Amino acid sequence: MNLSDKIRTIPDFPKEGIAFKDITTLLKDPNAYEEAIDQIAKRYKDKDIDLVLGVEARGFLIGAPLALKLNKGFVPVRKEGKLPGEILKTEYDLEYGSNILEIHKDAIEKGDKVLIVDDLLATGGTVKATADLVEELGGEIVEIAFLMELGFLDGREKLTDYEVFSLIID
Ligand code: AMP
Repeated sequence: MNLSDKIRTIPDFPKEGIAFKDITTLLKDPNAYEEAIDQIAKRYKDKDIDLVLGVEARGFLIGAPLALKLNKGFVPVRKEGKLPGEILKTEYDLEYGSNILEIHKDAIEKGDKVLIVDDLLATGGTVKATADLVEELGGEIVEIAFLMELGFLDGREKLTDYEVFSLIID
């Protein structure tokens, strides 16, 4: 199955000039969704990982089923004001404006081996901020995994300190 064909591109969303990669078409196809998760899981099944961490919101859709498949715990990184416990937060720049991500302080213990997961690597700002949170809590980043990567945006340049894996590269 060509998983790339299952992701549709919507032009000019959320604003003009952005070719939006819409994964809802992949999620709706149970065989495609399962194959995507299985293929990512295959890469990590024998790796030393304690936790899978997903970034709100589409990172949850990849990270949570992956965590279950790998029999590891799942940690959500959320947008501002959603997590009820004691949190650590980081603010990072977007193309226009900025964004805030938060994690529960007790979600990661010093030395935990963490696999960070998001749906898509664009400029890399989101996962770089996530990686900073993990490291501030003493976690070790095993790898950062994406369902899809927009290669032409060179997001990997922000992530040179880490191993990066993308199932689909566009
Ligand atoms: P970035 O921080 O630039 O790597 O952006 C990553 C986040 O924005 C990911 O969590 C994606 O869900 C979303 N995103 C950025 N660009 C696109 C795009 N062209 N299509 C779909 N999602 C995108």
